[in-house]
Amino acid sequence: MRLSSCHILLAFVLTAIFCSPTLAQGGEVSADRAYGHVENLVNIAPRLAGTAAEAIAASYIENEFQSYGLEAWIENFTIEKSYVVEENRLRVISENSTSYNVMALLPGQSDEIMIIGAHHDSVLTPGAVDDASGVSVVLEIARVLSTEKLPRTILFTTFGSEELDLLGSEAFVREHAENNIVVTIVFDSIAPGPDNGLRIGLRDSQEVATTEWLDAYAQELAEDLGFFVKSEHLSAVEGYSDYASFTRAGIPGTWIYWVNPQHGNILWPIHTPADNLDAVDKVRLGQVASFGT
Ligand SMILES: [Zn+2]
Repeated sequence: MRLSSCHILLAFVLTAIFCSPTLAQGGEVSADRAYGHVENLVNIAPRLAGTAAEAIAASYIENEFQSYGLEAWIENFTIEKSYVVEENRLRVISENSTSYNVMALLPGQSDEIMIIGAHHDSVLTPGAVDDASGVSVVLEIARVLSTEKLPRTILFTTFGSEELDLLGSEAFVREHAENNIVVTIVFDSIAPGPDNGLRIGLRDSQEVATTEWLDAYAQELAEDLGFFVKSEHLSAVEGYSDYASFTRAGIPGTWIYWVNPQHGNILWPIHTPADNLDAVDKVRLGQVASFGT
């Protein structure tokens, strides 16, 4: 079963390579484009870290970045873990595999770097919300900003192995600690939910808390756009994301996500079979991409 789906995926990637798009830079944020990325990534699911599906997703993202005229590349890293699927359940074993971080550079007027990130790997789900939604937002921000010369350099990054406890962002921080990274903004899980679902930041935890001044700044911007926002508490969310690899290293970081406060599990439907295309709200994606831009 895994083999045949790989063949379908290979055909998909070859189509993507041979129907090489013309440059698609600048312009307005397009919710349709963002949603299209989620559809394409859901067709490469599950995107388990260290598998062929992750590699295919990484190539898709790299190819997209390049189609915006950005210098883009993939960095491999070794993880001392591998997934095994047994009776439709995931098991992690101690065996090395290769995972990938995808990067695209938008040079600015200074060498101060902002990371705009998401993660492309998933658990044993289509991973539409978690985190094809975030990847689609990062791609759309990259496309719209690709023609700009901004005050700071931006490194758009999609991490691998987030679901193995942030291994991709840890590898990134290890590899790039000498660079002048001033801020990290991670988009992870733009889930369905009511209008007041946008969240920026996570409090209540020294270990995975976001950076308070950055949360406050981003919240102010979001409020100016008409969003009601606040930081959620770790106890309510029961999750965190790749920004934590940066904040642990002393680099300011925050997390942008969209929750369903009425639901018992406010990050629903992540890590459930319901994390499929039906769960992704095109309007939300467009709003978050506009806010991010
Ligand atoms: Zn996630």
